[in-house]
Amino acid sequence: MSLLTCKQFLEELNDYLDETAAAELRPQLEAHLKACPNCWVICDTTKKTIQIYRGVDPYAMPEEVGARLRAALKAKMRT
Ligand SMILES: [Zn+2]
Repeated sequence: MSLLTCKQFLEELNDYLDETAAAELRPQLEAHLKACPNCWVICDTTKKTIQIYRGVDPYAMPEEVGARLRAALKAKMRT
């Protein structure tokens, strides 16, 4: 089992946090998290952001916020 790249990890991060990621993918995502402090921070920050938004208004989906955050992160990863 090879480690995911950061790009692959970030593409799956939302599903992972929503717990909708494919079962066979989860160990790979967790392995990447353990091996990559960068993605760990991103995962932790995103998780907290989602929790804050859900706490404020459980019916307001953070999808737009999440999408914007992911787009910003992807732009960052390319540089
Ligand atoms: Zn990474």
